[in-house]
Amino acid sequence: MGSVVSIGVRWSGRFPGACCRIGIFMIGLLPLVAVSLSVAPDSSLVGFKPESVSAQLSAEASFDHSLNREDLPVWLKRFSAKPHHVGSPYGLQNANFALSLFKSWGFNAQIERFDVLFASPKERVLEMPGFKARLEEPAIREDATSKAPGGLPPYNCYSCDGDVTAKLVYVNYGMPKDYETLESYGVSVKGCIVIARYGGGWRGIKPKVAAEHGAVGCLIYSDPRDDGFYQGEVYPKGAYRNPNGVQRGSVADMPVYPGDPSTPGVGSVSGVKRLPLKEIPTITKIPCQPISYGDALPLLKTLRGPVAPDDWRGALPMTYHIGPGDADVHLKLSFHWDIVEARDVVAKLPGSVLPDEWVIRGNHYDGWVTGADDPLSGAVSLLEEAKGIGALAKSGWRPKRTIVYCLWDGEEPGLLGSTEWVETHADELAHKAVSYLNTDSNGRGFLGVGGSHCLDKFVNEVERSVTDPETHLTVAERALDRKLVSATADERKELRAKPEMEIAALGSGSDYSSFLQHLGIASLDMGFGGEGGGGVYHSTYDSYDWYTRFGDPSFAYGIALAETAGHTMLRLADADVLPFDFVRQGEIFSKYFQEIPKLVDTMRNETVETNREVLEGTLKATYDPTNPRVLPKIKDPVPVFDFAPVTKALDRLKAAAKAYDAASATAKPAPELDEALLATERALIGDGLPRRTWYRHMIYAPGFYTGYGVKTFPSIREAIEQRQWNEAKAEIPKVAAVLDRLISAIERAAHKGS
Ligand SMILES: [Zn+2]
Repeated sequence: MGSVVSIGVRWSGRFPGACCRIGIFMIGLLPLVAVSLSVAPDSSLVGFKPESVSAQLSAEASFDHSLNREDLPVWLKRFSAKPHHVGSPYGLQNANFALSLFKSWGFNAQIERFDVLFASPKERVLEMPGFKARLEEPAIREDATSKAPGGLPPYNCYSCDGDVTAKLVYVNYGMPKDYETLESYGVSVKGCIVIARYGGGWRGIKPKVAAEHGAVGCLIYSDPRDDGFYQGEVYPKGAYRNPNGVQRGSVADMPVYPGDPSTPGVGSVSGVKRLPLKEIPTITKIPCQPISYGDALPLLKTLRGPVAPDDWRGALPMTYHIGPGDADVHLKLSFHWDIVEARDVVAKLPGSVLPDEWVIRGNHYDGWVTGADDPLSGAVSLLEEAKGIGALAKSGWRPKRTIVYCLWDGEEPGLLGSTEWVETHADELAHKAVSYLNTDSNGRGFLGVGGSHCLDKFVNEVERSVTDPETHLTVAERALDRKLVSATADERKELRAKPEMEIAALGSGSDYSSFLQHLGIASLDMGFGGEGGGGVYHSTYDSYDWYTRFGDPSFAYGIALAETAGHTMLRLADADVLPFDFVRQGEIFSKYFQEIPKLVDTMRNETVETNREVLEGTLKATYDPTNPRVLPKIKDPVPVFDFAPVTKALDRLKAAAKAYDAASATAKPAPELDEALLATERALIGDGLPRRTWYRHMIYAPGFYTGYGVKTFPSIREAIEQRQWNEAKAEIPKVAAVLDRLISAIERAAHKGS
């Protein structure tokens, strides 16, 4: 899925919610505010004994020296020459080519195969009297691969089959709060087909919430305001989405579980027991089809009813109405529900001292069509990095711990390759995996990092070891500059006082999910972006020609990513003691948890206020009489919660973290110490979140109703947001229990290290 990065809040797509990850960048070039960081050049490194530092830095320097920018366009062109979705013939050719590269660099490499359920379109019809939607992306002369034979046409993977005829209703982004607005206008989607625009949250949430409200079909279009002509010239003249561009993408209910929808929780190896199609809970309940704004305009023009509120309006040349419309719209979709082969390329370089501790790295290599940006820009950077590590190994260096490079297949339909691999090897990974570092799309701009907060201090140090190719600041300084530009005065003061970039918490949208949220393996996700702009995400125009004009034409940021991820890998593989830090982790967890009592207060005040207005009838007077609105209903009162078990555990965590920090200054490296450190992130795994037990990390999860966006302390936070008061109360002691396990693991590490 996604592309990269923002700052603090993460990120990625080229516009909010458009991509697999969250966040974004509608920003063009920003003025650079030069700040000097009060950080001395690294004379010490987290996890390294003083006498090991210079050897480490010289290994990194020779790794950097071996990186060759010229490789990237050559590989990118080859990998993106033909469509390479999961199960495709060219996907296999790419896997074999990557395999041969890893082998030539000295890795023990193999292809691991899984049989996965994959839906591809059989029939797609969208029409109304006098209009038939095109549902195709025509070839463009300026783009050599834009009419690639064998490419998947625009569709949403894991939509159910369906044939419906109904009136149309516009639902803005189709997120839960949009339905509250619809309700206030007295418009129901029951029995209707909804049309939502992309953005505002993960696409799979749109058909899910529409079905919950009684809709019978779902269309998702790319409004030009979000990534089309409103943002800039459209492709091929500029980088943005043209009237025929369509965003493909998965609509499986991945906040329930990712991976092969027919094998939740277990690897899709041969002979696996599968759920029958009609029992798979993550396939949509209603048919869902993505469309271009060229196809959306005639449909939206038929809408009647209230004029859409200001923040629902896009950039199409018409008045946005909510609906319903006059026309009977016919949507008919059917799919081939095939079992196809997903092929992961897995390459290992055994550790010389601690071969049973694995430092894992991955990027997916499957794309929706030719996928030059998503995912190949990240994949070729990963290959360059592996080549650099292979060159170090050929010069006589060996990693202390085992290094594992992975190219995942089937990420786009639902993190298939990574999830099936993790589920298949769960027991071994639970014992051996030190960390997982993920990348996906990469472009020009700022480094963004998300991940486990035990690695926050470590990553900050890595970011200070890499130079930004355009500004020649460190990538840490450039990312901080970018953050300062948008910070409030208070935030600016804080940032300058403590110039560490706090890494973002991870939700979902790329291959780290199963490592972090299913097994509790400390994970990181990183990438550059923010300056390329553009709107070819998940379209046939995400191509070599597009990327080399608008993505990262010089491939300088492909090399910057190889350096940043490469230093991360080299340090994790060679540290004397695993570079985990719990002081920052404790501070950041506390900060996240403090948001929850505030959320409760806000909800309580809103509830009291709304109920008062409803009872007194004062709200009615504020409504525009020409645009009748429906009054909200009386809400149940918000109870009082006792959060003390968690807040007290967080206080004990901070104390344990300080004790480990003190002990670690003189820690004696030993396998038992690493083992104790490995247990810390694992400790945060519980029995699973309510109604979605595949997700077991009690601190980080993708939101049930956001999809990419993270919810920290998800079981408590989401229960409160959804007014499940008793469930929230029941989750408090469970969260306190995993924090206690974390504290015990940290205390064990402090003891082993002393
Ligand atoms: Zn991707």
